[in-house]
Amino acid sequence: MINLILFGPPGSGKGTQAAKLVDKYQLLHISTGDLFRYEIGNSTPLGLEAKSFMDRGMLVPDSVTIGMLRNKVEANPDVAGYIFDGFPRTIPQSEALNALMDEKDERISKLIMLEVPDEELVDRLSNRGKTSGRADDASEDVIRKRIAVYKAETSPVFDFYDEYGRSIKINGVGEIEEIFERLCAEIDSL
Ligand code: ADP
Repeated sequence: MINLILFGPPGSGKGTQAAKLVDKYQLLHISTGDLFRYEIGNSTPLGLEAKSFMDRGMLVPDSVTIGMLRNKVEANPDVAGYIFDGFPRTIPQSEALNALMDEKDERISKLIMLEVPDEELVDRLSNRGKTSGRADDASEDVIRKRIAVYKAETSPVFDFYDEYGRSIKINGVGEIEEIFERLCAEIDSL
């Protein structure tokens, strides 16, 4: 199996690239942000809890996020591999993911980080906010808060997998197709 973590700050293009990778490699794309938005759309208790954190640019508590992720993985055992997008975002989430992979006798093949400068992230997310209807893209304060949360809570996840020699960075600025080729080059070398 190929099990990838697509990593990087909010607005770095993870969702866009994941959709293209799924087509090419037939992997299952699991985006915790999309899963939360689905729950919110259905007004489930989980969705209502997640929304209160998401709208403020904060992380949803690990216990909620890890449980939801585990359900999704366990519901889809027969796949060629997974692309995790927006997960793990904390060290406890990384440990939970490793435990889940161990149970399946699998492991994370690679964490690939898309590097994009902060000001470009703010521009991209503000633009997306004009059409996405996403509450967390609608205010520059919330966008900047998400970037700050990424730096404080999520960036250590890069180092966590780097200790196993599995983390790499690629340039996330450029044409979508160009960035996709950079990603494919890394995956094909696995
Ligand atoms: P982006 O990467 O643009 O911020 P996402 O859709 O990945 O968008 O995430 C949106 C929000 O969903 C996050 O700001 C956070 O509140 C919540 N969220 C998504 N994934 C996680 C996670 N793994 N742990 C905690 N909260 C999460």
